[in-house]
Amino acid sequence: MELTTTPTLPSPFVLEENVVVKLKKKRATSFTKWEMKDLLYVSAVLLMHVLCLFAPFTFNWNAFWLGVVHYILCGLFGVTLCYHRGLSHGSFKLPKYLEYLFAYFGMLALQGDPIFWVSTHRYHHKFTDTEADPHSPVEGFWFSHMGWIFDDNYLVQKGENYVNVGDLVRQRYYRFLETTVVIHVYLHAALLYMLGGFPFVVWGKGVSTVWGYHVTFSVNSVCHIWGHQAWNTGDLSKNNWFVALFTFGEGWHNNHHAFEFSARHGLEWWQLDTTWYVIKLLEHFGLATNVKVPSKIHKHKKSLKNRMDDMKPQTDVKMQKMISVDCSEAKAYLST
Ligand SMILES: [Zn+2]
Ligand SMILES: [Zn+2]
Repeated sequence: MELTTTPTLPSPFVLEENVVVKLKKKRATSFTKWEMKDLLYVSAVLLMHVLCLFAPFTFNWNAFWLGVVHYILCGLFGVTLCYHRGLSHGSFKLPKYLEYLFAYFGMLALQGDPIFWVSTHRYHHKFTDTEADPHSPVEGFWFSHMGWIFDDNYLVQKGENYVNVGDLVRQRYYRFLETTVVIHVYLHAALLYMLGGFPFVVWGKGVSTVWGYHVTFSVNSVCHIWGHQAWNTGDLSKNNWFVALFTFGEGWHNNHHAFEFSARHGLEWWQLDTTWYVIKLLEHFGLATNVKVPSKIHKHKKSLKNRMDDMKPQTDVKMQKMISVDCSEAKAYLST
């Protein structure tokens, strides 16, 4: 019998059968052109990392706890709760004053203003792990982790023109944040310096921001490579409990790609999802309304088991064909 081999993909890219992944030249080292915006982002991100080098020499408990509070306010309330589940996916509603306050915290995480963040993220969901995805690991781990941020041309090419965020662009507040983001970041750093000197800047700005960067970026990189697929999403998204621990529940990323509208990402009782607990608390106090979660029907449609069942009749037909071939061969043998 002649054996044929099919080209094998690196293990992280082994997919559902219906997904075609084209491995391309890694973008991380092949930027087309450095724009002014790219240099500004690189400088800001580098500066935050340099600040972290001073962390051991400026440690004191007040500065440390200030860093933790910033990680929670900017990371949980700002990025995961407001930017992601609220603004990007509309999975619940908040009173405007609270939405705007949380969006302000999100902006201080230095991951871009709400219009930029939400637009990029909506493109990610629309074109997950295809040519048009702004940050898929198909273009390399480091590119999906943070390289894509430093290539403005690439983002423009991927459709970064804000046509998918009309709901935010229409609001004066978000347009104001978009044009003044740098001023707010400087004011925040100045306030920290006034309150606690250089240690507060190092821990409140540097350490908390860099920590926030890498845990958030891990959702784009790690959670599209390593982990478990619980649902038939047709992309590379994975559930990764380790990332979920540090990202306030965002690591249940395959759940999220399966049910983008859901305010809850940790769908099992044991899937820790801190952002969801906070949303439930806000709902309890009447502050979060119209909170969306997947119904049984939603889950049934995305279930991998059902997909297997759908495939079963085809498998049976294949088996029958094989059996009939075997029989005809046997008959031919007996007749000789
Ligand atoms: Zn999302
Ligand atoms: Zn994703």
